[in-house]
Amino acid sequence: MSVYAITATLRHYAAHTKCCCNCHTQTLCSTYRYKRFFFFFSHQKSEFHRLTDARVFLSDCMACGNCVTSEEGARIFAQNQTELFKVLSLNKKCDTSLHRLVVASVSPQSVPYFAVKFGLSVCEAARKLCGFLKSLGVNHVFDTTIAADFSILETQRDFIQRFRRQAQDEHAFPMFASACPGWVQYAERVLGDSVTPHICTSKSPQQIMGSLVKGYFASHKNLSPDKIFHLSVAPCYDRKMEALREDYYTALYKCRDVDCVLTSGEILQVMEQRNISVKEIEASPLENVFGGTTCEFVRHEGTSSDGYLAHIFRHAAKELFDMDVKEITYKTLKNKDFQEVCLEKDGETVLSFAAAYGFRNIQNMVLKLRKRKFHYHFVEVLACPGGCLNGKGQAQTADGKPEREMLQEMEEAFTRVPVLSPESKPHIQELYASWLEGAESQKSRDLLHTKFVPAPQAGARPDMKW
Ligand code: SF4
Repeated sequence: MSVYAITATLRHYAAHTKCCCNCHTQTLCSTYRYKRFFFFFSHQKSEFHRLTDARVFLSDCMACGNCVTSEEGARIFAQNQTELFKVLSLNKKCDTSLHRLVVASVSPQSVPYFAVKFGLSVCEAARKLCGFLKSLGVNHVFDTTIAADFSILETQRDFIQRFRRQAQDEHAFPMFASACPGWVQYAERVLGDSVTPHICTSKSPQQIMGSLVKGYFASHKNLSPDKIFHLSVAPCYDRKMEALREDYYTALYKCRDVDCVLTSGEILQVMEQRNISVKEIEASPLENVFGGTTCEFVRHEGTSSDGYLAHIFRHAAKELFDMDVKEITYKTLKNKDFQEVCLEKDGETVLSFAAAYGFRNIQNMVLKLRKRKFHYHFVEVLACPGGCLNGKGQAQTADGKPEREMLQEMEEAFTRVPVLSPESKPHIQELYASWLEGAESQKSRDLLHTKFVPAPQAGARPDMKW
């Protein structure tokens, strides 16, 4: 389908998915309508497919500011299973100049979805998922946890540096986590320069994985980055948008660090379309970028995200105040998705961290920030209530609501996965030394960090009342 046809279809689609205030005539909302958009085109039966022609009410709008233009929509749409199968089928043809090594990296928050769907443990589900992707023709399947390790360590480093320069830098605090593209886009497009300098510059795990695959792994394989097709399996649609950011495109090779993002729900849909049952899939262990296999699936602290708050809190307590934090005690504020953690020394609060999940809590946080009543050092911000397990690309009901029972099962399954901190993994230090030329090097900054730039119209929008 040509871009013109897609654009025309988008317009048609937009006209048929009416918002009660008609605000979206030329645009589609990323967090709410991506899903409808994708399944409008797919014409496949799936758990998400009963969504076409639904009305979108203003109350559904999260004021995330991520309204997607027709042009962006067309580019996001290009990241679908057809794109993957195009590459896989070219790989079967005789013309080897068109062949590309297909690498998939799987987000750790996607695997519990498959575990519950397959009725297996997270570890077994990871092996089945890997086996399924390989049966399609994917050459290597990695776990994105290694990239989250780097992202956590770089966020820790940024935090310590900000703490030490806070007297000279008015933007040092609060510092916001940068792992969630939904939140980052909202900050850039809506909140503007009152917030963007406060966002940690570390790339998200997905995009660090992009650097690892198209950089370290490509050179290990003696391939140029454009000879690798990198698929990311993720829990949300926002990561499709993230993969398209300008920063993640290499003009020299005319390729992106992540070529295609498919959500967990979309991968399951491929299985359904092919009528493949879990029993038929031959399990295969996940691999690592060093060329070996990974027998065990491990996670970071935190029940449904990568646990930035917990890691940075412990690290900062030790590094800045020489205090060992054994147990982290969370205090629930307005709701379970808005919590805080404080460190006291000699009767004085020396560190105060918060977790704000979901746009309602983000909006409250921003209102307090504007009134200068928000005094946290670090905030782990995630766009989805409950965190990444609740991403819009998995475990959703037909009317776009989270499947509560399934989410609970996913959380339970994820909690059973053993925790391993990034500091205790020797290969991370090895990669800092061999690939990045040291943790403080320019190469580390170039490959593990990015810039968050406010959009020209940001900051001009009226506040949304919740
Ligand atoms: S919180 Fe939601 S939008 Fe943000 S990265 Fe996780 S799944 Fe995606």
